[in-house]
Amino acid sequence: MIKESTDSGEINGSQPLMSSDGVKYLPDAFYTSFLSDIAKNRKPSPIRSLFPLESRPGLISFLAGKPNATTFPFTSFSFTAQDPLNPDRDTALTIDGPALAQGLQYGDTSGLHGLLEWIYGLQEAQHGRKRGEGWRVSVGAGSQDLIFKAVAALVNPGDPVLVESPVYAGVIPMFQSLNCEQIEVETDAHGICASSLRSILENWPSGKLKPKVLYSVPYGCNPTGMTATLERRKEVLALSREHNFLILEDDPYFYLYYGDAPRPPSYFALELEEPEAGRVLRFDSLSKILSAGIRIGFASGPAPLLNAIDRHTSTSNLQTSTLTQVIIHTLLESWGYEGFITHTRNVAAFYRHKRDVFETALQKHLSGLAEWSSPQAGMFFWFKLLLNEQDGAGDSESIIRTKALERGVLALPGTAFLPNGRKTAYVRAAFSLTGEEEVNEAIRRLREVILEDRAA
Ligand code: PMP
Repeated sequence: MIKESTDSGEINGSQPLMSSDGVKYLPDAFYTSFLSDIAKNRKPSPIRSLFPLESRPGLISFLAGKPNATTFPFTSFSFTAQDPLNPDRDTALTIDGPALAQGLQYGDTSGLHGLLEWIYGLQEAQHGRKRGEGWRVSVGAGSQDLIFKAVAALVNPGDPVLVESPVYAGVIPMFQSLNCEQIEVETDAHGICASSLRSILENWPSGKLKPKVLYSVPYGCNPTGMTATLERRKEVLALSREHNFLILEDDPYFYLYYGDAPRPPSYFALELEEPEAGRVLRFDSLSKILSAGIRIGFASGPAPLLNAIDRHTSTSNLQTSTLTQVIIHTLLESWGYEGFITHTRNVAAFYRHKRDVFETALQKHLSGLAEWSSPQAGMFFWFKLLLNEQDGAGDSESIIRTKALERGVLALPGTAFLPNGRKTAYVRAAFSLTGEEEVNEAIRRLREVILEDRAA
């Protein structure tokens, strides 16, 4: 009998699932009311869903229109990469033979088998998520690709959605294009204000469709730089259970945590303490740690949601580039988990230094002229300009877009991160690229601009 692969979208049952990882999961049928109409109507690809059968020993396949790789001109790919465990010498790596053939060919919708296996091991080591039937992983062309597909899988046009506020500007257009009501949940330096979220949900108008998802960036948030505390995370998880919503944990800055306190656990890890797991859909990205241009991210979460994402992929871009997956997998295999973690620690230390340089400049030039809290992860400072009271104290937009720019300083006015376009005195500065001298010069110029404004 032919059994379809992971992107079949089968719904397995309505009883909570005790998975082989020893965790009790919400049943597959639970997600039916969460899936958007489009997701429910999307059918699995009749060809791609049968791809895995091709590896069955002895099977002769006439299935897919896969081009014959012997006609391709590439004979090998070689590259050198740093070795985090041996910083004195780079490692030379070559992709040829079966790995090359695989890299040049169409591959499985959810990702390259070897890379997926590597990711499962990583998720177990980092988030305590053992392999089991209740969850799975898919690779995407960056996490943005997967977030977009997850939103399409979960949200119907016009649906209300909960977003932390300020929110990553890259998701605002996704929700806007679906005409969603973006319910802004207050945040502070400790993460999502659970009291604000509770109040929104407890005062929800009766008869009105309740939000099905909450979107959050819990470490080194873009734009605010905040990292949510353990306590807040637990409160938000408890609310997701009480008010029946899913958490979209967008986490590209997880490995860029450099706070003094130990890194708090992810939502994906914490939900293992819930009576039933399965409310967290997690997005990881390799963009900030291996390469942004290589475009690899991965989503981890309940199988029915991952199946819906895969069905989107199999009808849009078919799959993430196999070649880049082979390249990344070759590198990660050569490093091992220890090498990978060492590398991410080095990257985090790099950004911690950048954070310190930026904060020193803020203290030197903007004390009394701006307010901020120090990020514990990521690459963003979010600071409030203390502007002239008469001259729109609550609006950084004109000063940043005109006067600061005229002096050669480019930053982003905070309004870009507010779904309703509200004015704000906040500004986001990315401190990933600039050196000490440039940072000092730029913040000194900002000081002049603010002083001019206050004198006006
Ligand atoms: N989410 C957030 C919060 C981000 O800051 C970014 C990158 N700017 C992304 C998602 C997209 O990352 P990727 O390169 O993995 O698509």
